Amino acid sequence: MLVALSDTGLYPLILFIFGLIVGSFLNVVILRGISGGSVGGRSVCPHCDKTLRGWELVPLVSFIILRGRCQRCGKEISVQYPLVELSYGFVLLIVGTPLPQSALGWAISLPLMIIIAVLLVLFVIDLKTMLLPDTFIILLSVVVAFVVAVRWFVADSAPLVLYWAAAGALIGAGILGLIWLLTRGRGIGLGDVKLLIPVGALLGPIDTIMLLFVSFMAGGVVAGYLLLTKQANMKTAIPFGPFLCAAAVLVLLAPQFVDQVRQLLFGGYI
Ligand SMILES: [Zn+2]
Repeated sequence: MLVALSDTGLYPLILFIFGLIVGSFLNVVILRGISGGSVGGRSVCPHCDKTLRGWELVPLVSFIILRGRCQRCGKEISVQYPLVELSYGFVLLIVGTPLPQSALGWAISLPLMIIIAVLLVLFVIDLKTMLLPDTFIILLSVVVAFVVAVRWFVADSAPLVLYWAAAGALIGAGILGLIWLLTRGRGIGLGDVKLLIPVGALLGPIDTIMLLFVSFMAGGVVAGYLLLTKQANMKTAIPFGPFLCAAAVLVLLAPQFVDQVRQLLFGGYI
């Protein structure tokens, strides 16, 4: 059925809508990831505890119809909800097109969809709490281990796949671990170091160096902007995890772009 569907123009639309629905689930995961508790239970307005009915929970559409406000108390609904839904809609559109036609295709695409979902969840949680919960880093590690196993299975030189993953994890967690030690945890958190173990293993050493480079550049630009506009001072802590998560998604979704940046900046050196 899915194969027949991919022949029609409807396939991207259905994929996008499915992405919105998963995105709406990710919002629940984020909320529970911050406040603790299970993913089950009814969704309520965080301001007045009104139980949200079916039509108020339709991804994106409800936010637009309600104009971003709770129907009962009129308080603003966080823009995080539609943004996460939209982001994941586009992620599925990019990763799922064209539709994988083989088991191997699915074994590559599906973990990528899960990995980006976890990175999106970590992005928002770190932004809001300055923490990267271990649960999500462990989940990420399990999926990355599966990806490395698939690569190992299909590779001509299996040991090379393992060395590549180990080198990526070592370089990523090593560089951030060193900064963590030197700044005594003020520059970056231990969660950032742990995050780079699965992310480094997934990307391998070269892309991991690019990931760190892009993250530090973006972090510097944002910190500079916040300082200049007086929204922050030298003592304001800015979480680094969101930059790492966003850069990782960039490397995963736009590898050619990152490769061009690498060529431009470093030529043949890395
Ligand atoms: Zn309300």
